[in-house]
Amino acid sequence: MTERRRALVTGGSRGIGRAVALALAERDHDIAFCYRAESDAARRTAEELAGLGARVHHAPCDVADGEAVETFVKTAEAELGPLDVLVNSAGITRDSALVMMSPADWSSVIDTNLTGVFNFCRTVSFGFMKRRAGTIVNVSSVAGVYGNRGQANYSASKAGINGMSRALAKELAGAGVRVNVVAPGYIETDMTEELSDKVKKTAMASIPLRRFGTARDVAEVVAFLASDRAGYITGQVIQVDGGIVL
Ligand code: NDP
Repeated sequence: MTERRRALVTGGSRGIGRAVALALAERDHDIAFCYRAESDAARRTAEELAGLGARVHHAPCDVADGEAVETFVKTAEAELGPLDVLVNSAGITRDSALVMMSPADWSSVIDTNLTGVFNFCRTVSFGFMKRRAGTIVNVSSVAGVYGNRGQANYSASKAGINGMSRALAKELAGAGVRVNVVAPGYIETDMTEELSDKVKKTAMASIPLRRFGTARDVAEVVAFLASDRAGYITGQVIQVDGGIVL
């Protein structure tokens, strides 16, 4: 029997984070996951994970709040044991052209998408370094590599994740800890459901594989990077985008 591992997934209630949590539970991981607020979606995800035999810890935790993040990690480790895997998937959009963008929309996206990843990486890295074990996968976006019109805040936050992850990969490599990034293109989740039909049609026309990805498409790559099979991969940004930027 393989030894069970423990993974923490931010934004695990819905979309890509939920698919990652399920994929890891199928691979013998116990799961801690957080989200913004209690919901039926969060409760359903917890039930599905338990149904896969995983021990589960879940609670609301605003990723932008450093103190709340430290408390969540402490509580999760007290309940499940020391973490082996961190996946940062929580994220939001507040789209508009830069000239129309309010400072509040700029800050909330940077605080959630970038500072949130910093908060969790910082908190979890102490334990990973001490134990000389563990791996991190951060979810950014192709917007962070190429930029997206109407998403200056989001593109900046995701480019920040890519840069921060590469720096952290170098800092933690000596302790044997790997840090990688998955950068999805258009994926079918609540986040893209909000897009207008016109935007979806234009996006579809630019995807060589002629479909939006599924959350599972992304989760499979995250699960691989989190596994020992990816033991010689660190500091990489892997695009899962149907070839959109070929
Ligand atoms: P969803 O909108 O489906 O889910 C977002 C998740 O993040 C939810 O679990 C939500 O919790 C959580 N969340 C949001 N803000 C916070 C916060 N402040 N603190 C804690 N949790 C929070 O998004 P997706 O699954 O589509 O996106 C997941 C990640 O993938 C994001 O980082 C996104 O930028 C990235 N991505 C998505 C793409 C797509 O096409 N869908 C493309 C490229 C990247 P709650 O349920 O409580 O709201």
